[in-house]
Amino acid sequence: ATRPGRTPREVATHCPYCALQCGMTLREEDGNVSVLPRQFPTNRGGLCQKGWTSAELLTHPDRLTTPLVRDPASGELRPASWDAALDRIATGLRDIQQRHGRDAVAVFGGGGLTNEKAYALGKFARVTLGTRHIDYNGRFCMSSAAAAGMRAFGVDRGLPFPLSDLGQADTLLLVGANPAETMPPLVRWLTEQRQRGGKLIVVDPRATATARQADLHLQPLPGTDLAVANALLHIALTEGYVDGEYVTTRTTGFTDVRRTVAGWWPARAEALSGVPVADLEATARALGTAERAIILTARGAEQHAKGVDTVTAFVNLALALGLPGRPGSGYGCLTGQGNGQGGREHGQKADQLPGYRKIDDPVARAHVAQVWGVPADELPGPGVPAYQLLDSLGTADGPRALLVFGSNPVVSAPRAARIESRLRDLELLVVADFLLSETAALADVVLPTAQWAEEDGTMTNLEGRVLRRRALRPPPAGVRTDLTILTNLSTLLKGRAPSYRLVHRKGPLLTPDADGPEADPQAVFAELRRASAGGIADYAGISWERIDAADGVFWPCPRDDGPDSPRLFADGFATPDGRARFHPVEHRPAAEQVCAQYPLHFTTGRVLAQYQSGTQTRRVAALRQAAPDAFVELHPDLADRLGVADGEPVRVLSRRGEFQAPARLSPAIRPDTVFAPFHWGGAARANSVTNDAVDPVSGMPEFKICAVRVERAECS
Ligand code: SF4
Repeated sequence: ATRPGRTPREVATHCPYCALQCGMTLREEDGNVSVLPRQFPTNRGGLCQKGWTSAELLTHPDRLTTPLVRDPASGELRPASWDAALDRIATGLRDIQQRHGRDAVAVFGGGGLTNEKAYALGKFARVTLGTRHIDYNGRFCMSSAAAAGMRAFGVDRGLPFPLSDLGQADTLLLVGANPAETMPPLVRWLTEQRQRGGKLIVVDPRATATARQADLHLQPLPGTDLAVANALLHIALTEGYVDGEYVTTRTTGFTDVRRTVAGWWPARAEALSGVPVADLEATARALGTAERAIILTARGAEQHAKGVDTVTAFVNLALALGLPGRPGSGYGCLTGQGNGQGGREHGQKADQLPGYRKIDDPVARAHVAQVWGVPADELPGPGVPAYQLLDSLGTADGPRALLVFGSNPVVSAPRAARIESRLRDLELLVVADFLLSETAALADVVLPTAQWAEEDGTMTNLEGRVLRRRALRPPPAGVRTDLTILTNLSTLLKGRAPSYRLVHRKGPLLTPDADGPEADPQAVFAELRRASAGGIADYAGISWERIDAADGVFWPCPRDDGPDSPRLFADGFATPDGRARFHPVEHRPAAEQVCAQYPLHFTTGRVLAQYQSGTQTRRVAALRQAAPDAFVELHPDLADRLGVADGEPVRVLSRRGEFQAPARLSPAIRPDTVFAPFHWGGAARANSVTNDAVDPVSGMPEFKICAVRVERAECS
């Protein structure tokens, strides 16, 4: 081994942020870590500003390096020993469960956790704590697309084909996706697609950086994408683009869909959405006449109380055109969080066990219980989706304690002030994080965790490609990995550590000051493989060695000596009869309508230089410089009516709360709609106003539309 600080040391790994999981090389020299781009199939040597600057947080002065415990006398968070912090947690959890039962404790995970952590967290909740209450922030990300994929295809994999297929599509339809800002290296595929003569069409209420590159931009009123999709299928039927043989031999249920879309003549869709008939027809023709066509959705289509049905409408369109399973064609979802895909496969979701198994399926329960060495009837049943869970905290019937790993719901949850108050009502809030996020600042105990460059593991990117995250160096003194923390807590609470292999040595890439056994992430992955075997997301044939030998391995991969699955659906779908399912879906209005008091539509989103709740990226100097503050995007005509100048502070008010930020005037947005990014907390927290209405199938909150009014800040 090389000696740190003397000889440069390098590891090939991936960016800690989004689901593109760009390949990068980390280089350590004289204690300094630098990021170098790395050729990898998804990013082909490209990195965005977030990836380039990701190493800055390893030595950031805000980094937590000691546990913090709230002092009951002063109410302040004070540094504490690991023994004291863990003992406070174990004593508190035991006491609460004795008084109120096992479900009085809840766990909240994150879509950035490695597969090993997501798996260990689900097992910790169900075996160590015995609670049914576990869910994660991925519920706020792509759960609507996941549910729509499951009911249409019998499987939920963001992209059922490699990203490189985008470059081959003759027509590419992006719905509510803005990769030019959220995943810039992905734009190389769009450029390649257009250089080959392909057509790019974007559906978005804003003229985003991506929409500005498109051949055609449809700019519907927020919340009307479903009607647009039904109208596109209506035109495809009328003009003869539907692939009758594909529909007959590979699908079921088209008759009901045909009946539903018959009522969506283009002029009706134009009246509702504002998208001109000519643009609807041009889009349907571009899709219907293309040899290869791909339809992709992202948060713009999905984060609605009708998100599952909206995605389903685009899946119906893709199926009717015969796209899924054809080379260079299909439907896919651009997953957002770094391990948004893997994070939903291994047991963090309230209704799932590892392998994407349903927790109420007796066969699934028996299989996982056998791997975990516990009786199947002792495994808890399904819990509730994220928002419902957060909204029940501290109430008479809800959990009294919450453990949060890798999430910041105080900023990222809808109706955030209400969730913040629920968190304050808890008897015990524990947050494991490497920075003092807004959620951690409310906690009774904060546990400092390792960062991505300090631990090994695997991630599953937006293509369903399982990748290796490799440690460059151990975490600093005083810091433990999430896996070690879960092992410590299991040992304290159950008198024994989890069943996967533990490492007793203090190896160079494990926590240097852990006083006890540590979970070996590779051993956790070995157990995850067994637990997933036979499930929808089958990792049984994927080993770390196999990932190392290639550019990742695509699931499902059931056998060591069998192939992996870069492309799905060529021979059939993952349904009992191998056919995809159409589902008729109808437009319905947003959960909240504009009115005289709240006359504007409000929608949220992301900016290039920030990521998710901003806990990390707001602390990186270059990113802070690029995107220092929140803003409220207003059309100049609207600003004129309100008497607001560019840069002036405005208040945005809804029935649930308000926030304040400078106005940014832009013709990119519709005059009836207001946009703000959600990366900031405090007085600039956009989620203070968002609606907590949720999709009845996926539990996805309606982040993308609610009713607001905007005032000059001094008008208060
Ligand atoms: Fe990281 Fe995503 Fe940027 Fe790639 S696009 S460098 S994965 S944040």
